[in-house]
Formats: sequence, structure tokens, C-alpha cells
Amino acid sequence: MKLANKIALITGAGSGMGRVASLLFAKEGAKIAAIDIDEKGAQETVRLVEADGGKAIAFKADVSKSADAQAMVATTIAKLGVPNIVYNNAGIEGKAQRIVELADEDFDRVIAINLRGVWLGMKYAIPEMIKNGGGAIVNTASIAGLVGLRNSSAYCAAKAGVIAITKVAALEYGRYNIRVNAICPGAIDTPMVSRIQGGGTMSERAVNRISTLGRIGKPEEIARTALFLASDESSFATGAPFIVDGGWTIG
Ligand code: NAD
Repeated sequence: MKLANKIALITGAGSGMGRVASLLFAKEGAKIAAIDIDEKGAQETVRLVEADGGKAIAFKADVSKSADAQAMVATTIAKLGVPNIVYNNAGIEGKAQRIVELADEDFDRVIAINLRGVWLGMKYAIPEMIKNGGGAIVNTASIAGLVGLRNSSAYCAAKAGVIAITKVAALEYGRYNIRVNAICPGAIDTPMVSRIQGGGTMSERAVNRISTLGRIGKPEEIARTALFLASDESSFATGAPFIVDGGWTIG
């Protein structure tokens, strides 16, 4: 098992990629702190992990709030122990509007959850990880942090910011044996993408535009990347954005 005796704090664990990663990490031996603003979603993830023979706890937190981010780390330590792995994955898509139409509050909300949420997760976990001898942090960015997407100014800014703070954290804490990497998924089949599509399915033409493989990705394909980055298999990787996008950003 790749994560035997490890403790993994995963945000956005109540749905999509966070849930699938929780299940995979647990299968690989980790105990999971499933963090989500959607408490029911987090509890369902715990149920699924336990049904598969793993151990997990659920905790409700809004990652954009400092007090909640502190509490999620403290509760993980109290109930499971110091996290060896922190997967800052929670995020929202925000409203699809051009810069001129997007309300200030909608811009701020996306930045608060998608960027400050990742920053707070690192801020409160890192001191504990240092005392514990180190660990691995995986932050969810997006190809939206690498290329521009129309109607997504706040989302692109937040995800570019996640790549930036991933590099900074890797520089600042490498000597404490903490590796920090980011994943840049392309289009992945999760509730977020079906919300963006309004519940419908993507046309073949649209799929071919965003993936040279002719299909969108599965959450399991991102979970396996997260597992690689969280485990010792990636022991010399730090500060890097890992693109897993079916070729969307090749050219
Ligand atoms: P999802 O909507 O299925 O899951 C996101 C989870 O985050 C939900 O459970 C939600 O309740 C939780 N969440 C939202 N706001 C929160 C907050 N303030 N505090 C705590 N939890 C909160 O979406 P997903 O596709 O699994 O997205 C996971 C991550 O991957 C996000 O950061 C998203 O931006 C990113 N991403 C998704 C895609 C994609 O194609 N699906 C592509 C690139 C990046």
C-alpha cells in the first residue's frame, strides 16, 4: 500500500474528485479527514470509505474562512493525528460572465474559496507538518491557471494564483521535508462539469476541442495523479504544476 499509516486531510471531499481521491487514498492505507462545506456530502464519503474497509472522519468547514481552516486542521489532529498529506481540492466554478458583467462579490467569492482557501489550508497545516517531520501537499489548480478561458476571469486568476503559491510554498518549506505540488486538470467528469453544462452532455465537437483523446477525463485519473504526488513515488517532485488534461493545452 502506497499510503500505509498516513493521515490525509482532503478538502472538497464531499463530491467529485475529492470523494474519489478519498476512496483511493483510503484503499492505499491512509486515514481520511473528509472536509467539505457540504456536511452531508462529506458524511457520505466517510460512509463509502468505511464500506470499503477504510477509516475516515467528516468535518464541515468553509475553506475560505480562517477559523474554519484552523478548525479542520485541529480536528484532524485531535481525531486522527497530524496530517502527512494535505490535499487542498475544494473549489467552485463561479459565474460564467465576462469581466464587465461579473459582480465584484462574485469575483471575490471565487478568489476566497479557490485561492485563499488553498492558502489557508497550507498556512494552518504547515506548522504541524513541520513539527511532525514533513509531508506532502497537493493543491488543485486547473488548466484555467495556465491558459485564458472566456467568462472565467476570477476562476483563471484564482487557479493561476494556486500555481503561484504552490511554487512559493515549495521554496519556503522544502528544507522542512514538505513537498508541494499542484494538479492542473482539464475537463473531468464531475458534478461541477455537469453544472457548467447545465446538466446536458457535451457535443462531440466540444469534447474534441478540449481533449485530443476525444473524451473528458474521469475523476479516478486525477485521483491517481494526486496519489502519486501524495506518496513517496514522487519524492523528488516539488513546486510543479502537473497537467492532466487529455491534451487540451498542447496547442
Ligand atoms: P465538485 O463540485 O464535484 O466538488 C467540489 C467540492 O468542493 C464540493 O463537495 C463542494 O461542496 C466543496 N466546496 C465548495 N466550496 C467549498 C468551501 N468554501 N469550503 C469547503 N468545501 C467547499 O467539483 P470537482 O470537479 O470535483 O472540483 C474539485 C476541484 O477541481 C475544484 O477545485 C475545481 O475547481 C477543480 N477542477 C475541476 C475541473 C473539472 O473539470 N471538474 C477541472 C479543473 C479543476
